[in-house]
Amino acid sequence: MPDRAPQPVDRQLPTDEARDLFSLVRELVQREIAPSAAEEEDAGRFPRGTFSLLSESGLLGLPYDSDFGGGNQPYEVYLQVLEELAAARLTVGLGVSVHSLACHALANFGTKEQRAEHLPAMLGGGLLGAYCLSEPSSGSDAASLRSKAVREGDDWVITGTKAWITHGGVADFYTVLARTGGEGARGITAFLVPGDAEGLSAAAPEKKMGMKGSPTAQVHFDGVRVSDARRIGDEGQGFAIALSALDSGRLGIAACAIGVAQAALDEAVSYATGREQFGRPIADFQGLRFMLADMATQIEAGRALYLTAARLRDAGRPFSKQAAMAKLMCTDTAMKVTTDAVQVLGGYGYTADFPAERYMREAKVLQIVEGTNQIQRMVIARHLAGPETR
Ligand SMILES: Cc1cc2nc3c(=O)[nH]c(=O)nc-3n(C[C@H](O)[C@H](O)[C@H](O)COP(=O)(O)OP(=O)(O)OC[C@H]3O[C@@H](n4cnc5c(N)ncnc54)[C@H](O)[C@@H]3O)c2cc1C
Repeated sequence: MPDRAPQPVDRQLPTDEARDLFSLVRELVQREIAPSAAEEEDAGRFPRGTFSLLSESGLLGLPYDSDFGGGNQPYEVYLQVLEELAAARLTVGLGVSVHSLACHALANFGTKEQRAEHLPAMLGGGLLGAYCLSEPSSGSDAASLRSKAVREGDDWVITGTKAWITHGGVADFYTVLARTGGEGARGITAFLVPGDAEGLSAAAPEKKMGMKGSPTAQVHFDGVRVSDARRIGDEGQGFAIALSALDSGRLGIAACAIGVAQAALDEAVSYATGREQFGRPIADFQGLRFMLADMATQIEAGRALYLTAARLRDAGRPFSKQAAMAKLMCTDTAMKVTTDAVQVLGGYGYTADFPAERYMREAKVLQIVEGTNQIQRMVIARHLAGPETR
């Protein structure tokens, strides 16, 4: 009994341009990313060349203004591209999402001069970005961060340690949140720091459960000097900028999660239609058929939710609540679907000979990054019931 080959996702794309873009993305994924993904992840190799290729192909600046080198694509298109990339290799899909997050501050809060000077290289000139909010002692409570930026004449001197930084040590630029004023959210300012700045160094990458090809490292700022021209937005506006970036970034994580879940479902269907027990394909057994049906339904629901949030964003309407809902639901779906995929493959699912176990390890991190799913519930509840009273 032959395995049933996965069908490409039937996507709703708004324009012919977006459809052409998808042909390019699928071709690139099949040629450059999918064939080596398992081996590269196993070896923990960071795919720098792939990011250069994505930049050359215009895929590192898709949702940004074409006047500054971006692709001018609506978020609903950009997110579906992320989904395709993440399905092939999460290190790449999430890497693009984090790069986009790192560009958000300058693209949306920078002056025209700053955007003209830096954005073209960031969006399509081969540079790769990192976003530095978390610290060893401030994760969910990000507004309590301690890294400091002190004004000295026309410069700022940044000192402190950032934790868990995706692309830490390999990024060409770092969007950094540092304290310039008193305690709390209002004392934080954003800066754009070049990767080769004196005093900037990265620790050895963390040894992670999954996404091993994506370096995650502490980044130390030891008296890093940047000019005031690299301050983004007003003094004290940094936390609002960081949260605005995260609203959009969370949608990227949601799309990546659906990509991983879709890849796991495809693997499960293909295996279940090929593997025989009791003289029949295991896909004949209702116990598994219903499991596959539930997995597919959860994926479609997740995709629909992130697209709803994206379309609100594209229409210039508030989307923060829906972004938190999409991040929560899509990443929980990825965890559930990938766990079920391992179950469908039985003992083989528990081995590295099949990608199901990799998808399961990758899904876990998506419930944690860019606000844990507990934090997403807090965000949603605040939209419903207002801020907590104490
Ligand atoms: C692979 C990876 C890549 C990352 N990349 C980046 C990056 O590029 N840039 C960056 O800035 N950060 C990055 N992070 C950091 C990530 O955003 C944080 O790990 C996350 O925000 C959680 O912070 P924490 O790990 O300090 O956990 P904590 O905040 O210590 O939370 C621990 C647990 O307590 C729960 N918790 C905390 N507060 C509450 C509350 N009020 N109510 C209920 N539960 C609560 C959390 O949900 C969690 O379960 C990355 C993390 C990982 C693992």
